[in-house]
Amino acid sequence: MKIQIPKGLFDILPYGDSEKWRLVKYWQYVESIIQELTKDYGFHEIRTPVFERTELFDRGVGEQTDIVSKEMYIFQDKANRSLSLRPEGTSSIMRAFVEKKLYALQKIHKLYYVAPMFRYERPQAGRYRQHHQFGVEAIGIALPEQDAEIIDMLWHFFSRIGLKDLTLHLNTIGDSSCKLNYITTLKNYLAPYLSDLSKESQIRFEKNPLRILDSKDEQDIKILQEAPTIHDCLSNEAKDHFEQVCTLLTEIHIPFTINPKIVRGLDYYSRTVFEVSCLSLGAQSALGGGGRYDGFTSVFGGPSLPGVGFGSGIERIIQTMIAQNISFPNISNPFIFFIPLEEKSKTFCFSLLACLRHANISSEMDFHVKKIQHSLQRANLLKATYCFIIGENEFNSKQGKLKDMQTGKEEMISLESIEQKLMHLWEKK
Ligand code: AMP
Repeated sequence: MKIQIPKGLFDILPYGDSEKWRLVKYWQYVESIIQELTKDYGFHEIRTPVFERTELFDRGVGEQTDIVSKEMYIFQDKANRSLSLRPEGTSSIMRAFVEKKLYALQKIHKLYYVAPMFRYERPQAGRYRQHHQFGVEAIGIALPEQDAEIIDMLWHFFSRIGLKDLTLHLNTIGDSSCKLNYITTLKNYLAPYLSDLSKESQIRFEKNPLRILDSKDEQDIKILQEAPTIHDCLSNEAKDHFEQVCTLLTEIHIPFTINPKIVRGLDYYSRTVFEVSCLSLGAQSALGGGGRYDGFTSVFGGPSLPGVGFGSGIERIIQTMIAQNISFPNISNPFIFFIPLEEKSKTFCFSLLACLRHANISSEMDFHVKKIQHSLQRANLLKATYCFIIGENEFNSKQGKLKDMQTGKEEMISLESIEQKLMHLWEKK
């Protein structure tokens, strides 16, 4: 009996997948951009386990949120402890941050992660039961510059990849007092329409009323058209903070749209919230989002510190790259492909192959001595930059043919000087 992958999961393969976005070269490219970006913005990597105690997410994300109430993978271990696969990154990072007392080591912390997340959702395009997120958390600074740095970083992550037609939606949900005020104002406005709202929104009315603003139901959207926005309930401090974030983003030429409907699903946000979406993605248009979560560290028993971060889904980023025809250098192409056409030249090629690899030059060799057409086919498949071909006559006269695979140009090179020649070409590349 064949055993199949569980529903909503996928493999990332080097080749042989009809869905391009699951090919590893895209993942490696996005990860290489993440490495550069985090270095340029001064962020340090943090890795936490894939599962945690369930109560971490109950407390961190919020028991009433969809993620915790409907989508968590929860299981009992052999000692009857309730554990959960992590559905998002921030709670685990805050747990580790507080548990390991990182706050005692320095005042400012800039952390990032690239990690799988698990949500029991109905699988569909852009929604999987295991997805991967690149996320960052900046802990320690309450100033608007910190919000702007994080938003700039998310925006430039997408632009470094080359993504186009994106919209940055920006909003504030105020401090906790503004948020509470707004929830009362919103509920007062919605109460007369309660029975006309969708079933989902009726449940949210009691449990998590801000999420009604996220509703995709047509009737809900109509009712919400005249609803008061959080901007009617903001404190002066929260308003001021938001205006400064907007000014800073304008100053660094990041285009944004103020969208009062963006509230983010998780309980821990306050003040700035944001999302980047791409229309060409269809229903699952969010590529990433985040916000400020001042005081979140205290939920896990640490001191109350300001923080702001984002999470972005790598699957959807790659799908957008493909939809937008974005090309990128294939980092795994061999620079040189050796083709020995008879046994005698194999050892020479093998030794040069090892020598170049030891010098960090990606090289390949055909170990089977066979027809030249077959070897060239394989070199083409691997997108080799050059081939070095040694036939019997050439070996006897101590030379080989260097072929530029892009131009087709061929040149005879002596076996004595080929190593130097290749090193020279590599440096010029
Ligand atoms: P969220 O914490 O729900 O805002 O998720 C952050 C980002 O992760 C989203 O903007 C998406 O790009 C991605 N994402 C969330 N859930 C899924 C999922 N089930 N499948 C694929 N990507 C997801």
